[in-house]
Amino acid sequence: MKQKREDTLRKRLEKVKERKEKREKQSQSNLSALDESILLVNILPNTLGVIVPFRNRSKHIRPFITHMTKYLSDKGIPHQFWVINQTDAFRFNRGKLFNIGVKYASYAGFLLYKFMVQTLNILFFTLGCDYFALHDIDLLPDNPNLDYGKPVKTGVYHVSRPGLHPLYRHSKFLGGIITITKEAFISVNGFSNDYWGWGREDDDFRERIRSKKIKVDRPPLLSTGTKKTFINLHLKEDIRDKSKTEEQNRYAKQHFPERGFNDTSLSETCFWEKSLAGIVYFVVDAKLSCDAKTTPWCLPLST
Ligand code: UDP
Ligand code: MN
Repeated sequence: MKQKREDTLRKRLEKVKERKEKREKQSQSNLSALDESILLVNILPNTLGVIVPFRNRSKHIRPFITHMTKYLSDKGIPHQFWVINQTDAFRFNRGKLFNIGVKYASYAGFLLYKFMVQTLNILFFTLGCDYFALHDIDLLPDNPNLDYGKPVKTGVYHVSRPGLHPLYRHSKFLGGIITITKEAFISVNGFSNDYWGWGREDDDFRERIRSKKIKVDRPPLLSTGTKKTFINLHLKEDIRDKSKTEEQNRYAKQHFPERGFNDTSLSETCFWEKSLAGIVYFVVDAKLSCDAKTTPWCLPLST
């Protein structure tokens, strides 16, 4: 009896594994085309791609997706969610995950075309986004006056500006939540792929924007201030990999804007559609690669 149950279970697990491998393979073959060219055509203009860098923060998914859906729907903003999940063993790389997210969210129209023509697989029916919210998962807008529309004025808009962000107040801070047009993201060549571990990728991003002479627009100092403009799910006990090596410190003093979005590979990524409380969102599993000779600080540090 016990043996029979174990056999059935094993068979079921094998089937699940087979299905997963098949999906991964199918996804991979369609993605090689995405890697090759940048598609600037949008299926629907004015659609917001909410891009969330992610690893080991599953407790934040539900509050994030449900809150953001209500918040953006109340504002009448067409949107889709892209959670970019880092699955390798390297240190967390927020910038590279944003690059991957923007590739997926803006290439979606092309994916639809490929799938419709080749396999009729409607699972990947998505709209191409023409602007993005580069969004931490632990920071939720709680003031309806924050703007999540397309940042047409300058192309870049810092929603969680210093003076409103609950934790970071220094004037040069550019983290948390940014909205950006596809044109602006491409023109600054996205994020550097070389920042591993917590911090500094946002400083490098600010430098990319500055060197292109793009001004960062931002909301006025709302009366809800630093305490009530956002719901802050940020927990001290969540893992933050803040240690830095000497080499890493030296590297962060330089900027290489010619590297970034343009050399972000999608070769070890695959994506699925998921749903939660009736809300559809996309998850990209990203197994990042790192050349440990050039950026050895991608390897986990022992301290
Ligand atoms: N993040 C994650 N897992 C990690 C580290 C970071 O998912 O191990 C993502 C998550 O979206 C988070 C964002 O990166 O909101 C910024 O990280 P964190 O909250 O640790 O940094 P801080 O708010 O201090 O900038
Ligand atoms: Mn945080």
